[in-house]
Amino acid sequence: MAKVCPECDNPLDIDEDEVEEGDTLTCDECGVELEVVTVDPLELSPVDAEGYDDEDLTHEADEDDEDA
Ligand SMILES: [Zn+2]
Repeated sequence: MAKVCPECDNPLDIDEDEVEEGDTLTCDECGVELEVVTVDPLELSPVDAEGYDDEDLTHEADEDDEDA
């Protein structure tokens, strides 16, 4: 069954019988990492949002360094 990438609407060729909850897939079109949230129905969630949190933490650490 065809599922589309939530980021770029590229049709993803995923066999629902071959994925499990927690699996990660990569969109061939935009390269976003997608995590399988549920398999019935098949729901995908972009994983790259975590990257923004990491950047925030790094920024705070920089400011702290300047102060000291
Ligand atoms: Zn995509």
